[in-house]
Amino acid sequence: GDAPVAAAVPQAGQDGLTLLRRVGTTDPASLDDYRAAGGYTALRRAFELGPAGVIREVLESGLVGRGGAAFPTGRKWDATARQPDHPHYLVCNADESEPGTFKDRVIMEGDPYALVEAMTIAAYATGCAKGYLYIRGEYPRATARLQHAIATARARGLLGDDILGKGLSFDIELRRGAGAYICGEETAIFNSIEGQRGEPRSKPPFPVEKGLFGKPTVVNNVETLVNVLPILERGARAYAAAEPKLFCVSGAVERPGVYELTFGTTLRELLDLTGTTGTTRAVLLGGAAGAFVTDLDIPLTFEGTRNAGATLGSGVVLVIDDTVDMKRLLLRIAEFFRDESCGQCVPCRVGTVRQEEALHRLSRRVSDDDLVLLREVGQTMRDASICGLGQTAWNAVESAIDRLGVFK
Ligand code: NAD
Ligand code: SF4
Repeated sequence: GDAPVAAAVPQAGQDGLTLLRRVGTTDPASLDDYRAAGGYTALRRAFELGPAGVIREVLESGLVGRGGAAFPTGRKWDATARQPDHPHYLVCNADESEPGTFKDRVIMEGDPYALVEAMTIAAYATGCAKGYLYIRGEYPRATARLQHAIATARARGLLGDDILGKGLSFDIELRRGAGAYICGEETAIFNSIEGQRGEPRSKPPFPVEKGLFGKPTVVNNVETLVNVLPILERGARAYAAAEPKLFCVSGAVERPGVYELTFGTTLRELLDLTGTTGTTRAVLLGGAAGAFVTDLDIPLTFEGTRNAGATLGSGVVLVIDDTVDMKRLLLRIAEFFRDESCGQCVPCRVGTVRQEEALHRLSRRVSDDDLVLLREVGQTMRDASICGLGQTAWNAVESAIDRLGVFK
């Protein structure tokens, strides 16, 4: 659907919101509004710092990727900037498809110029003359708003040649996905942009060395990129002292939506803000590729969730109450992975089918044989699949069996 989803809660000790500060308060179609609300101060600061200075700030900020994998952004930028092979490309991964994830949509619909500015800064720092914005096909409103923002920025000298009279040449081409989850995997995006089947490539080589069209490529998620604006506006240290993170809250809650918090807030504190319905039984963190947890005192950090055997991933917080039929939910997750597997490698192509079959049988009659089979198939997918889809397809099922006692 295309319904608006935005909810933001300023946190105690924070000077209002950071990433969502313009969402719902400025006109997303107006470049003048954007500039009046602080837009393009970060790019001006970037020109003062120079490309190496921008990378230094991003490294010092400790920013890690918000797509889900938490790789240090500054390291990615630095590695690309150093590549002697040219041209360099920038790809913004806006193919937000993890079930339960809708944070990038809120940014793109509510503050599209922020993404255009952030991409321009990333390109300046890493030496990219061209950027691709690869957006999920099911996001028509975000697409239209970004198209408008890109065209207006170009007409006003903020994209194209000699941006702000500083000699920077950079432009953005928007590409729409066609509904495949796998086309959010960064190397599948390259294939999709190049006109090939959207199948992942083996890594290494990593995109920073050999990416789009075989050239050094920076791939960053939407939320990751817009974090660069407060890093430059406030300075790396001030940013790191109250580092913002978006959470997508859905399921058995009173006020679902996107919440901006600082890292380290506990799951319980977040659920106090959203309110819950029914009796909370578990929370699925990280989406279909994530894991169920029952401890609400987990700090919402990448490390804290990892220590709890889960993942912060793309910020999914899906609350499960005692009315949810867990067997049906697991079947739905298994069906999703079977459907979205690109079929390129055997562990995932066959494993996702076997997983779904075993779950069907188990939901009718619990048998030790099927539980053993499920575990073996799951471990094989995790160990031997080419990409993250197959590697994570068993996570949620495993955690439901081990922590929630489903099929006991
Ligand atoms: P990954 O760990 O393979 O890589 C993360 C990033 O770091 C990639 O850009 C990769 O190129 C880079 N990288 C890793 N090692 C590197 C190195 N040595 N040198 C240079 N660059 C390096 O993870 P991934 O497969 O890209 O992503 C998996 C994540 O995606 C999961 O956490 C999952 O939650 C998330 N995900 C998100 C969505 C969404 O809609 N946001 C959808 C599906 C999956
Ligand atoms: Fe395709 Fe699955 Fe293999 Fe990834 S793990 S390449 S989605 S078959």
